[in-house]
Amino acid sequence: MSTAEDLSRKDFLDRPALAALQLQRLQAIVAPAYANSPSYKRAFDAAGVKPSDLKSLADLSKFPFTAKTDLRDNYPFGLNAVPNSEIRRVHASSGTTGKPIVVTYTQGDLETWAETAARVFQMGGITSNDIALISYGYSLFTGGMGAHSGMERAGATVIPMGGGNTEKQLMLIKDLGVTAICCTPSFFIHLMEVAAEKGFDFRKSTLRHGFFGAEPWSEEMRQRIEAESGVKAHDIFGLSEIMGPGVAGDCECRNGLHIFEDHYYPEIVDPATGEVLPPGTEGELVLTTMDKMGMPLLRYRTHDLTTLHYEPCPCGRTLVRMDRIRRRSDDMLIIRGVNLFPSQVESLLLEFEGIEPHYLLVVTREQSMDALEIQVEVTPQVFSDEVKVLETLRNRIRERMKAMIGINAKITLVEPGSIARSAGKTKHVLDMRKA
Ligand code: ADP
Ligand code: ZN
Repeated sequence: MSTAEDLSRKDFLDRPALAALQLQRLQAIVAPAYANSPSYKRAFDAAGVKPSDLKSLADLSKFPFTAKTDLRDNYPFGLNAVPNSEIRRVHASSGTTGKPIVVTYTQGDLETWAETAARVFQMGGITSNDIALISYGYSLFTGGMGAHSGMERAGATVIPMGGGNTEKQLMLIKDLGVTAICCTPSFFIHLMEVAAEKGFDFRKSTLRHGFFGAEPWSEEMRQRIEAESGVKAHDIFGLSEIMGPGVAGDCECRNGLHIFEDHYYPEIVDPATGEVLPPGTEGELVLTTMDKMGMPLLRYRTHDLTTLHYEPCPCGRTLVRMDRIRRRSDDMLIIRGVNLFPSQVESLLLEFEGIEPHYLLVVTREQSMDALEIQVEVTPQVFSDEVKVLETLRNRIRERMKAMIGINAKITLVEPGSIARSAGKTKHVLDMRKA
C-alpha cells in the first residue's frame, strides 16, 4: 500500500534557510521574465532595473509592480516566459472589462500548484484515508482543478463533483462516505440548509473537514458552520493570477493563514503609494511567484487587504501568517465565488439600446446564497413601452449576463432619474451581505 508523501517538512524550514531559498528563486525568475517577456522587459527598463540588480530580498522593492491590467493588455500569452510548446494548461479569470485574463502553466507549475494545495490539506489533517468531494466549479475557474490536484497529491480519494446539484452532493457524501469537502463557504451553508430540510444530519455523517475559500468569510461564519455541522472549517486562499487555490491556508492555531513562502513571496504595500510597509501593518498584499515558469508574476497587486505576521506560530511552522482577507482595495465583488467588476456590468448594459448609463448593483444574501439585482434606468420611450417590450429587454440582459459573466442576476428596469445621482464618485454597488 502506498501512502502520500508528507509535504509538511517544507512548512518548517528555519528562516535563514528560507530566505536564502527565496533569494535564489527570485534571482532565477526575474532573469527569464526579462529575457522572454517583452512586457516585463519594458517595465524593467522603464523602472531602470535589471535582473542583476536583485542582490538581496530588499532589492525586490525596486522592481515594478504587475497589475491585472497588465494581464489584460498582454492577453492571451504576452506574459509567458516559455515557448507555447511548454504550456500544459490554461485557466482564466474575470478581467476588469470585456475579455477575461488568461493564466498559463507548465508541467512544473502544475506540480507546484498541486503541492501547495496539498500542503493546505495536509495542514488540515488530510491523509490517504480521506475521501474528498470537490464541489468547486470545474471550468476555466481554478477552484475545481486546483483542489482536485491538491487532494490527489495529499493522497486522498478524489470525487470530481463540481458545483450545483445539491441533492446529489448530499447523496454522494452519504453513499461514498465522504470525509472532506472543498467548496465556497456560502455553498456549504446552502448544503447545510438543504440537508436540514431533508432530515440529513451532517453530525451523523462521515464528513469531518471543509476547505472553504474563493470568497471572503468570517470567524462568525466558521463558528456557525462548525456548530451546526460538526465539520472542521479550514480557510484556503488563492488567486488564479498567482496559481489558484493553495497560496495560503490556516493551521490548527487559527491565527492567520500560512503563506507558502517558498513559492509565493509576499509583501504588504500602501495601496495608494505602493510603498512597502513594515510587518504588522495592514495594506495591500503583493505576491511574486518565485518559480512559476509559464507565466511568472512579479510583484502582483492582489488588491486584497491584510497584515503579515512573522512572529512564530505555536504550530511550529515558520511560514509567515496573513490575516484572513475581508476587504479589497478595488471594487471587485465576489458573488457566489465569481469575480465581478461593476465596469463589466456597465459595458454589458451599454450594448443594449434604450438603456441609460445609470445603474446600481444590489447584492444580498438570501438563504445563505448571494443574490445580485441589477437596477438600471431605461430611456423615457422604453419606459412607456408595453410590458412585453420591457420583459423582452429584461430577459435579453439577464441572458447576456449569464453568458458573459456566469451570474444569474435579477434585472430591474427603472424609470429615468430614479437611481440616486451623486456629485462625487458615483456609487454603483450596494452590498448588503454581512461578511
Ligand atoms: P480563485 O479561483 O481562487 O477564486 P480568483 O482569481 O477567481 O481565484 O479570485 C481570487 C480572489 O478571491 C482573491 O484575490 C480574494 O479576493 C478572493 N479569495 C480567494 N480565497 C479567499 C479566502 N479564503 N478568503 C477571502 N477571500 C478569498
Ligand atoms: Zn500555524
